Amino acid sequence: MLSQIFSKDDYQVVFSDKAYNDLVFEVFDNKTTETGGIFLGNIDQDKKIWYIIEMIDPGYNEIIRQHAYFEYDHEYVNHLANIISKRYKKDLQLVGLWHRHPGSMDTFSITDDGTNLEFLKICKHNPISALVNLDPDFRLTLYHVDDSIVGRPNYTKIDDVKIGTDYIPKDYLETLNYEDIINNHKQSMNFQKDKNQLEEKLDEIVTNEFDYLEKQTTYEYDFGQYNYDDRSVGLTLKSSSKKICFRFFIDEELTIFYDLEKFEDVNKVVSVSRHKYKPITVKKVLEEDKLGVV
Ligand SMILES: [Zn+2]
Repeated sequence: MLSQIFSKDDYQVVFSDKAYNDLVFEVFDNKTTETGGIFLGNIDQDKKIWYIIEMIDPGYNEIIRQHAYFEYDHEYVNHLANIISKRYKKDLQLVGLWHRHPGSMDTFSITDDGTNLEFLKICKHNPISALVNLDPDFRLTLYHVDDSIVGRPNYTKIDDVKIGTDYIPKDYLETLNYEDIINNHKQSMNFQKDKNQLEEKLDEIVTNEFDYLEKQTTYEYDFGQYNYDDRSVGLTLKSSSKKICFRFFIDEELTIFYDLEKFEDVNKVVSVSRHKYKPITVKKVLEEDKLGVV
């Protein structure tokens, strides 16, 4: 039984020069047997374009290259896919696979169906599966793989294929250079430093305000990290009618902002004040009733 093949014009595949070269090299390095590889790239879902930016060879260990049967070294491919993908500013995804077929057979075997379905499971989006024939000239046939209810995949042949890095959007091709990598590292070290500082300050604030907050009866309170800002911690006070958010910013000096928000409409900030934090500021703010609280 042949699997059903649809043909639609609305899918397009674009190869970078490098990916296409690597594929052709791999085929002609292994002319007498099957070989294959994995495609990494990006997919423009709206335009239905598969951009193939890198091709990964099938490996050298535990690889089976027989006539009409081929299996790649999964460990090797995963390892290399991770390394290559990370070099790009926009991480590359697994977008497809290819293998060589003997003679002119440019449709999938039942074993291939299994491999394609497996691949469909591990890809974020529908992958491309390609076949190469040397009959005797080099010929590449591309298919879009989709699941089907009958057990075998649905294949859609793709005729619209372009080769050329220039056809690929620039932002897909941007790679990280050594400066980006060193800066990223610095930023993550600073972030850790900030985090430690933040935790220390939070401890200090909790200690300073704890007695008062425990004794008062108007508000339920809660300390925590403000999720939209890595450099601040927050104290939230809630009564049945009001909500007050104090944000403590960790800058050169500890600065406090406090916002009064209406409880029923928490997104509406009624007033914002900025002060240098001193112990028992919270108590003062509430007792002096500058915000019309209590
Ligand atoms: Zn096959």
